[in-house]
Amino acid sequence: MQKTLSLVIPAYNEQAVIPESFAQMDAAMRATGCPYEIIYVDDGSGDDTWARLSALAAAHPQVRALRFSRNFGHQLAVTAGMDAAVGDAIIIIDIDLQDPPAVIAELVAAWERGADIAYGKRKKREGESLFKRFTAWCYYRLLGAMSAYPIPLDTGDFRLISRAVANDFLRMREHDRFLRGMSAWMGYNAVPVEYVRQERKAGSSKYTFKKMLRLAMAGIFGFSGRPLTAIGYVGAAVGILSAAGLLALAVGGASAPGWLWAFFTLALLLGVIMLAQGIQGAYLNRIYDEVRGRPLYIVRETAGAQAANKETIL
Ligand code: UDP
Ligand code: MG
Repeated sequence: MQKTLSLVIPAYNEQAVIPESFAQMDAAMRATGCPYEIIYVDDGSGDDTWARLSALAAAHPQVRALRFSRNFGHQLAVTAGMDAAVGDAIIIIDIDLQDPPAVIAELVAAWERGADIAYGKRKKREGESLFKRFTAWCYYRLLGAMSAYPIPLDTGDFRLISRAVANDFLRMREHDRFLRGMSAWMGYNAVPVEYVRQERKAGSSKYTFKKMLRLAMAGIFGFSGRPLTAIGYVGAAVGILSAAGLLALAVGGASAPGWLWAFFTLALLLGVIMLAQGIQGAYLNRIYDEVRGRPLYIVRETAGAQAANKETIL
């Protein structure tokens, strides 16, 4: 049977870019030769986005559109599109043509060669401010250093995921979502496809500084427990150093000024408090892991399906 594709596109106040974006993406999907659907998610737009998307859905049988009741944010808009998608592979792309539709064919080719995840890796960014490029550069490296799983550098949400990966996303219902981190956490055979990030075709960025900061924090707090426990290590170090200081005073510090005693005593107490916070952090981290309810593990493939059937064992 022929494989089917789903294209998921979040849109927030994007009325200006919709006609050109649809024309280019529809052509790129048709060029793959696979049957496909295009799913737009209107993330609570206040402009004509919904009118345009619903008109597209009425005019083209391959288009579906969902409309959020308010602005829930890009990560949840993409999630809703993934929930609705039925294809054998799902491609996630921004509506503003910054991710070139021509790259879709390369993602599909990588999938056909066996990739479970084919992610767009930006080798260059066109028309983005120096500030945005610099903060993005620093952030991806900070995240890489803090995360327990390698999260690919310079990679956004533009990617193709196979049905198996999509089904695992369906099992991960964490609220504070950082999709590219979740994708990295899952593992699988993930293959980079390099591309040049283009300038926005129309409209302006919908990622305000506040939204960017929130996404950045979702990445760090969702994928690293270190901020919670690091303070405990600092506390232990402070505690040990000040205990050593007190010991030195007790042994040979008969003429040492009284404030030095007070200083080391206070420092020791501070170290103990920080250590206690780190210990609380370790518990909090475990609670966070539990409530997030991620799958314990992900099975990529099984072999020998017969053996899994109880009747053949008996
Ligand atoms: N977007 C969204 N909800 C939001 C913000 C953005 O659905 O609250 C969509 C937006 O319409 C676009 C994609 O997410 O399709 C990426 O947003 P944008 O291009 O503004 O971000 P940038 O490329 O500037 O980082
Ligand atoms: Mg953009």
